[in-house]
Amino acid sequence: MGLFSKNKAPEAPAPVKQVEEVKEVVIRDEIIANEEEYIFDKTFECPLCGKSFKMKKMRINKDRVISQDTDLRNIYSKVDHYKYGALVCARCGYAALDDMFKPLAKSRKDMVVNGISVSFEGLDLPNGPYSYDDAIRIHEHINKCNDVREAKASEKAFSYLRMAWLLRGKNECTESPKAKAGLQAKEDEYITKAQEAFVEAIGNETFPMCGLDEQTVNYILADLSRKLLKFNDAFQLISRIVVSNAAPSRLKDKARDLRDIMEEDKKRLGIEE
Ligand SMILES: [Zn+2]
Repeated sequence: MGLFSKNKAPEAPAPVKQVEEVKEVVIRDEIIANEEEYIFDKTFECPLCGKSFKMKKMRINKDRVISQDTDLRNIYSKVDHYKYGALVCARCGYAALDDMFKPLAKSRKDMVVNGISVSFEGLDLPNGPYSYDDAIRIHEHINKCNDVREAKASEKAFSYLRMAWLLRGKNECTESPKAKAGLQAKEDEYITKAQEAFVEAIGNETFPMCGLDEQTVNYILADLSRKLLKFNDAFQLISRIVVSNAAPSRLKDKARDLRDIMEEDKKRLGIEE
């Protein structure tokens, strides 16, 4: 069976939930009391319309990473940095994740102008810190912008993944079981979109991909595949990382940990092979 052929789904292909490390159940605040101190207004020049605009950005040295999810989402001690990891030009509506906010070829520019700018009325972002809903609106707009300009699959994949992380962050700040279930379902949708886009990207693009090397992308895709119960694909990706001469030992360790988590997932779900 090929790496990305469809696995026989052992049961309804609902994503695996609660299979990662058991997190402490602490409801975090969406916006912490002094979040203002962790952010600042930064001015950017838009590579599409040439005008300047301001966005909130993190003061990176004021916060630190305290842990990491299996799909490499960092957990920070105070503020969720991903709320501030994207750019939207307030003038023309061109938008992308920070690292992907780059000049476009003329034909792509025209696509954004005709598909976004002509009807763009701004995202009405607050003057103070961003809530998750603000960040989610920004990322919905990025996904629309990516579609309009027919962005590379890798760019779409990372934007979907970032959206999944924001939905997870919001979920961690939510108490109502019904709201949590809704956020989990939305996160699962974006995990699915990201997994599909990463498969397409690996098939058609070269590395580094959005700044990440091949084995790191393989690792992320392995975890997304695991969450979608595509265990055969995930095991094959992990094997590639473990035998790779290019993968650093830290990534190999994470890949082996992921393999252990998957063995547990399979046991829990009663899947035998
Ligand atoms: Zn602009």
